Amino acid sequence: ERPPLVVANWKLNGGTDLICASVASFLRQNFRVQIGIAPPYVYIGNMANFLRNSQIMIGSQNVSKFESGAFTGETSAQMLKEVGCEFCLIGHSERRQVFLENNASCHTKISSTLSAGLMPIICIGENAQQHELGLTKHILYRQLHESLLGQNIKGQQIAIAYEPIWAIGSGKAATPESVQEVHEYIFNELCTIFDEESAKNIRILYGGSVNKNNAAQLLAMPNVDGLLVGGASLDPEHFSEICALA
Ligand code: 13P
Repeated sequence: ERPPLVVANWKLNGGTDLICASVASFLRQNFRVQIGIAPPYVYIGNMANFLRNSQIMIGSQNVSKFESGAFTGETSAQMLKEVGCEFCLIGHSERRQVFLENNASCHTKISSTLSAGLMPIICIGENAQQHELGLTKHILYRQLHESLLGQNIKGQQIAIAYEPIWAIGSGKAATPESVQEVHEYIFNELCTIFDEESAKNIRILYGGSVNKNNAAQLLAMPNVDGLLVGGASLDPEHFSEICALA
């Protein structure tokens, strides 16, 4: 059994002050969980260097689906690997909504990430309307199958982050029981997409208004293998409290 994985997604936030405060706060303590931080691209190299021999992995919030060439503004998986990045968030709902990513582009990005030897953390989740209409599993089914079928994950680490869009930044996390039910569904789908043994190796994280008051209850659920934290991760003390709960 691998330890839970708790990942900070800084989104378009942070800078030198937050980096210094986070690094200071993390190097002071030992945690039982595996910790990841996904800062904006420009900070990845320096942070990864600084935290090279620590428990903390640095990752990216996105990756290009291209490997190289005339694609202004893009950053490839190979480049990320070279500067010490260890994982990539893929298909975050903000990327899907604001930058028009879809399951097909996620499929390509997951392949690039796996080829470069990075761990993809594939973000999936339904919006408020789909939730109300009872379409959650239907949406997740498509997101999982369309982005994962045909991926070669042998010997590689991958993770899924279930982030219901209505819970992101709303202060209203999904209940531990409902998260458990959805994660169990995701696990079963991963068993059909890959096989049971591979599925057991895929950690399923929950994200959406996670904070130090709800983290322990969420992590206590049998199919919750970690957390993806947005807002609360911008306060290093708050984020280390969440990591210490796991
Ligand atoms: P919040 O924790 O701010 O709700 O954000 C969740 C998220 O989108 C993490 O990727």
